Amino acid sequence: MKVVKFGGSSLADAASFANARDIVLAEKDRQVVVVSAPGKRFSGDNKVTDLLYIIHAHLKYKVSFDDIWENIASRYREIARGLGLKLDVEALLAEVRAGFVPGATAEEIVSRGEYINARLMADCLGADFVDATQWLFFDFNGRVNAGKTYAALRELGREHPRMVLPGFYGALPDGRIHTFSRGGSDVTGALAAAALSAECYENWTDVSGILMADPKIVANPRPIERITFSELREMSYMGAEVLHEETVFPVRQADIPLYIKNTKDPSAPGTLIREEFGEDSVEEKNRFITGITGKQNYTIITISKARMREDIGFVRRVLEITEHYRLPVEHLPSSIDSFCLVIATRNLEGCLHELLTEIDERCEPDRITVCDGVSLVAVVGRRMARSTGVSGRIFETLGRCGINIRMIEQGSDEINIIIGVMNEDFTQTIRTLYESFT
Ligand code: ASP
Repeated sequence: MKVVKFGGSSLADAASFANARDIVLAEKDRQVVVVSAPGKRFSGDNKVTDLLYIIHAHLKYKVSFDDIWENIASRYREIARGLGLKLDVEALLAEVRAGFVPGATAEEIVSRGEYINARLMADCLGADFVDATQWLFFDFNGRVNAGKTYAALRELGREHPRMVLPGFYGALPDGRIHTFSRGGSDVTGALAAAALSAECYENWTDVSGILMADPKIVANPRPIERITFSELREMSYMGAEVLHEETVFPVRQADIPLYIKNTKDPSAPGTLIREEFGEDSVEEKNRFITGITGKQNYTIITISKARMREDIGFVRRVLEITEHYRLPVEHLPSSIDSFCLVIATRNLEGCLHELLTEIDERCEPDRITVCDGVSLVAVVGRRMARSTGVSGRIFETLGRCGINIRMIEQGSDEINIIIGVMNEDFTQTIRTLYESFT
């Protein structure tokens, strides 16, 4: 049995709904379907979830929202009509609209986007609708209660072998609706897959899997066919936008393969994400790197002190100060008589001078220098630890292009090499590295 999840752009209108239906029906193992709310149909269009947030704001300030509701309702009507659904869509819309009363929470209101979509999809597939409040349970602190959630869905799965589940929300212990952060239907799908020990979790979207580089920087980057969860974490942390952050934990824990697939190209392999891949396959042997990604606007603060190594506790004292300012330090490259703090520039706004003064007074370094406008570029690849020549190629390529490297760091698990370059070289660095590795 497979759990399949469709994102909003794959369910934006009747035509895309029909395409999603065909994908589900193409394999009889695709028994559990999780849906988002309708997304944008074209650039400049609105996502239903965004419109629902606006309705909540109107309700709060007692401003009429009839036209916004009409906009939403007409989208669902178009889907129901286009698919020739039997369900009474007007009654469904009236039921939802009746809940938009003063005092309704934002979460109750925005969750209705997924609720209506799941009702329509269930009708379209002839499968059972199972509401998220029946199985996806949060504790009062907003964390998913996995034990209770998994047990409830397993039980429901016995009664409803083919079911459609709305993504994005669940219930608090008192029954009130709670939502994940934006994009959270990905997490719902992962929880359903883990609960039901699915053979795999297919996350259907409108791109051909995870790409080797940002398509805004590199023209037509190749999709990554196979990536490990750790590599994915590096790629997302360093800026690649793929899945909701919390998605991977349930499937990773349960060792369930996760596929990212493209609704516009269903037969394309997409990306398979797993804990690890067998060493011996040809695919593995030919692999050099998995992807290249990066983030801009970092500050490097270099703290130098002669015989720093002999001043036991020097680094700790500096880090106590950054801790006091609650600054996340992203990297800490060091040499014998100096080390650097690499910190996102936005986190230093308003506290840089105080921070430097405090380091100067309490740690008495010989010199502190600050370099702004730095970008971090990560070359990610699980086989780098076993391949020779990756860093050689990085430095050779960048050197040839006249790009000055300000910082180098290799992660201790050797699945990434991070290089710091100036912001103005960011795009060129990613493009050049992509070309040299593909
Ligand atoms: N509809 C919600 C959003 O737009 C959740 C989701 O699509 O995953 O964020």
